[in-house]
Amino acid sequence: MNNFSKLGLSADVVEVLDQMGFENPTPVQQQAIPMLLENNPTDFIGLAQTGTGKTAAFGLPLIELIDVDNKVTQALIMAPTRELGQQTAAQLKEFTKNNKKLNVEVVYGGANIVNQIKALKKPTQIIVATPGRLLDLIKRKAVSLTNVKYVVLDEADEMLNMGFKEDIDDILSHTLDDRVTWLFSATMPKEIRRIIKKYMDTPLEVAINTEQKSNTDITHQYVITKGANKVPALRRFMDLQPEMRAILFCRTKRETQQIADDLGNLGYGAEALHGDLSQAQRDAVMKRFKTRSMQLLVATDVAARGIDVNDLTHVMHHQLPDQLESYTHRSGRTGRAGKKGISLAFINPREGRRITELEKRIKVTFEKVEVPSVEELKASRINNWANLILNTEVDEQANDILYSLHGKFAHLSENDLLKRLITTQLDHLLIQGGNDGDLNELQGGRGRDRDSGNNNRRDRRDRGDSDYSGGGNNRYFINIGTIDGMTIPDFVHYVSDTAGIKRSDVGDISMQKTSTFFDVDSDAAKGFEEKFSGLEIEGRSIRVNRDDEGPKRSSRGGNGGGSSYKSGGRKRSGGRGDGRGPKRDYRGSRGGNSRGRRR
Ligand code: AMP
Repeated sequence: MNNFSKLGLSADVVEVLDQMGFENPTPVQQQAIPMLLENNPTDFIGLAQTGTGKTAAFGLPLIELIDVDNKVTQALIMAPTRELGQQTAAQLKEFTKNNKKLNVEVVYGGANIVNQIKALKKPTQIIVATPGRLLDLIKRKAVSLTNVKYVVLDEADEMLNMGFKEDIDDILSHTLDDRVTWLFSATMPKEIRRIIKKYMDTPLEVAINTEQKSNTDITHQYVITKGANKVPALRRFMDLQPEMRAILFCRTKRETQQIADDLGNLGYGAEALHGDLSQAQRDAVMKRFKTRSMQLLVATDVAARGIDVNDLTHVMHHQLPDQLESYTHRSGRTGRAGKKGISLAFINPREGRRITELEKRIKVTFEKVEVPSVEELKASRINNWANLILNTEVDEQANDILYSLHGKFAHLSENDLLKRLITTQLDHLLIQGGNDGDLNELQGGRGRDRDSGNNNRRDRRDRGDSDYSGGGNNRYFINIGTIDGMTIPDFVHYVSDTAGIKRSDVGDISMQKTSTFFDVDSDAAKGFEEKFSGLEIEGRSIRVNRDDEGPKRSSRGGNGGGSSYKSGGRKRSGGRGDGRGPKRDYRGSRGGNSRGRRR
């Protein structure tokens, strides 16, 4: 028997849950579903994180309580991000797939509002929405909340963190006084208490002990390393654990993009997720992450909110979040569904105090770990290679090849043969390209190894930073990249044609998947950004900003002109150390509509 049937749900709903493989309710479902069904109408507070099954905890009672014969909008679910909104709506649609009379729609910013208005013309009993877009739709009279009986504030603490406080007040003012509010939050800061006091009447409450969960399933770790060594240190962890599947949290969009691009150029399966990407780009990144075409998602807190990925081995923090409460949200992305996970923070020597603060604030214990040494990496690679040989089944073609060699190696001893074979694998077995020192630092700032200073310099050089001249050029960022089918020559034509400048005024182009950094001669750069205003590419607005710290392509600063584009994209130095070199290339074909269009 399906254990959901004991919670007061109808047989039809239990049948769908059965088909979805939901057999046993999670703790928040176990407690919230009967409570919401038996006490209807009631205000409700659920203290639970993403990953605990809270969507079904409110979604299932909601679909039971909606009057499907009434076509007006009766329930509103507010979510902080479009990703969470989309996932919630997708789950509700799945729950209601056998009930053709019940319609769920999701609306969020960053997508075409006209299509959303059209979709809402259909009778829609449940609307899932991000606050900003919902207000827009209310103002355009595309949505009426006058019959809404249930308002769900999902991840309410996140909505407040993201600055939706006024929007929530505004939206709730459009609903009936006798509507009920169900609020879900992972934390209970002061502002949430204000909302509870203002909008809720003696709410029932369910609290899922997230502390206990994080203590048992998530191991919290930190390493101390210099800021400039954080990415090299991260690479060592990735090298040592090739099965790692992780999110790396960064604080700014630019840093997110740059780290993902740096890692990508070094051959790692890493991509950025941040708010400057179009919805289509974000969806494509998430698809690649979910289908394991890449192993590391480099994301801002905002972009990563609400994304539904269950089997991460690690959550990593390039910096600790400004608001320590966000650490709970970040680390809660691993150790889900009963699996173990590691939350690993890269902190610089002066940040040790923040770890102590975190330990006190969220009541977890951190374990200090060391950045793996090159010796460890080497030993691990050699061991993996030896195991690969031991576990390889001999292919028949090997017999043929051996036969065709006519005993060519017969004069070599076994040892000689092995040594020669190993020599052919040195690129793979050794760590090439610098950064061979100890990347660990002592708390307070003293490096443990003089080499680490050299490594910093080497690392900066690898990233091209030390080549930056700035000279007579302005450096810019544009949100166009290889994903748009652009090649470097295409790009030069496009920029010079659009801005009305000479091709030779555009130089030092560092083209990435979703963005490009480039120089423009400062004499030609007057009014440059404005020339792109109102342009679109692939249906999204083109954005150009000054970015004098943007990554450089090569040692040739300044106006590269045609010839400097030959190598295409940023200098690819360093290397993965396994001899395979970078995975990416920049030979995108020119897409049919890769040129910007004026709106
Ligand atoms: P949520 O916390 O609502 O985002 O849910 C996290 C994930 O767990 C989603 O992928 C759900 O589909 C899944 N899930 C939720 N409840 C159950 C359940 N009782 N049995 C199996 N999977 C569930």
